[in-house]
Amino acid sequence: MKGARSLEMSRLDPPFLYPSFVSSTMWLCLHMVLKVIELLVYQEKYDLIGVHSAREFVWWYNGHPDGKNLSPDLKSTDTAVILGQGNVALDVARILLRPTEELATTDIASYAWTALEGSSIRKVYLVGRRGPVQAACTAKELREILGIKNLYVHIREDDLIKSPTDEEEMKNSRIQRRVYELLSKAAASASSQPMLGQRELHFVFFRKPDSFLESNERSGHVSGVHFEKTALKGGGPGKQYAVGTGEFEDLDCGMVLKSIGYKSVPVNGLPFDNHKGIVPNIRGRVLKNISGDSSQVENGLYVCGWLKRGPTGIIATNLYCAEETVASISEDLEQGVLASSSGLPKPGREGLLQLLDNRNVRPVPFSAWEKIDSEEKRLGSLRNKPKEKLTTYEDLLKVAT
Ligand code: NAP
Repeated sequence: MKGARSLEMSRLDPPFLYPSFVSSTMWLCLHMVLKVIELLVYQEKYDLIGVHSAREFVWWYNGHPDGKNLSPDLKSTDTAVILGQGNVALDVARILLRPTEELATTDIASYAWTALEGSSIRKVYLVGRRGPVQAACTAKELREILGIKNLYVHIREDDLIKSPTDEEEMKNSRIQRRVYELLSKAAASASSQPMLGQRELHFVFFRKPDSFLESNERSGHVSGVHFEKTALKGGGPGKQYAVGTGEFEDLDCGMVLKSIGYKSVPVNGLPFDNHKGIVPNIRGRVLKNISGDSSQVENGLYVCGWLKRGPTGIIATNLYCAEETVASISEDLEQGVLASSSGLPKPGREGLLQLLDNRNVRPVPFSAWEKIDSEEKRLGSLRNKPKEKLTTYEDLLKVAT
């Protein structure tokens, strides 16, 4: 090892654009989202080669046009370390560990499949700063990764010891209980050693990353992570946090994926709760400040998704979240809260399209997305895949028109 480089552990929000805007009120939402996109600055600093954010890696294997050039080096190492134990961490671990003959019939980007086919990564370490009771993943996703064929799973028995506060936490949360049970079952049923050629998944708890280690042999490349051991402190059930114990340990690896969640960034001129990383709101109605006073609503301004409630939840959570915001807009429309002050009708959808045109923004309507979808399905059917993704903006727009 050559030396240690300090860690940049910034959490950032990916730009999501929700379609279907129906009125001039809604264009304010759009305006806000566009602003978020404009102002998002990806501050992640990859000071050592081989360190990536999980977001980039997910974009890469999903064929996102902005992620296709990542070209992670999967051939120079047999070990990857993933920082974090949420569902994104599990997703990327699954991609690295799942047999490629199974991936071949998914909609994974073809270039990613080819790279994974040649991958020499056999061991993946999923590292959490807290314990198995606090692992941020959900049971369904955990079950999926534990169900990978011919996978050796390792969890240290000591890490499964629960404190009275852990017990209390588990009583209060069905998800945490299920996750803990699955991890305990996996630990109990694992063989003592991996078999020859078996891929390995190691859950490592109570370790927080301190710095990345640089390789002696390959200058500028990562060769490991320097971790500090942790213990849980304070707060009571649901509020335990990790504190360093002053004891350190290195984990050798040739690839690191940072999967430590996301945090929205403020948008100029919009109220923002820095602590929660959200735009303050009540049921999607944006508030003028973070006091939570419902009389202080910004009329005609709404928010949904991670900017509304924080970076949590599965797809269904987003559906309910969007429905709630739309219900607030509908109520306000019915009650005349959104009536134009001039008395003239609002320009609605046409106004939005005009605004986009004025700004040289080329929207892709749902009908165009349907064209992309059916072309991807057609291409997929030629290769026994549900879809073959179009992975450049050029190809996407060509098909969309
Ligand atoms: P996440 O669930 O918030 O997990 C983040 C992980 O990073 C946690 O283990 C967290 O540990 C750890 N972490 C945070 N800051 C850290 C630091 N400074 N040092 C070390 N570790 C740190 O985030 P995510 O996995 O990116 O997922 C985001 C949301 O998308 C989640 O709600 C997830 O469920 C959802 N999602 C859902 C699916 C699905 O439905 N299949 C798939 C992917 C993502 P602590 O708990 O100690 O903070």
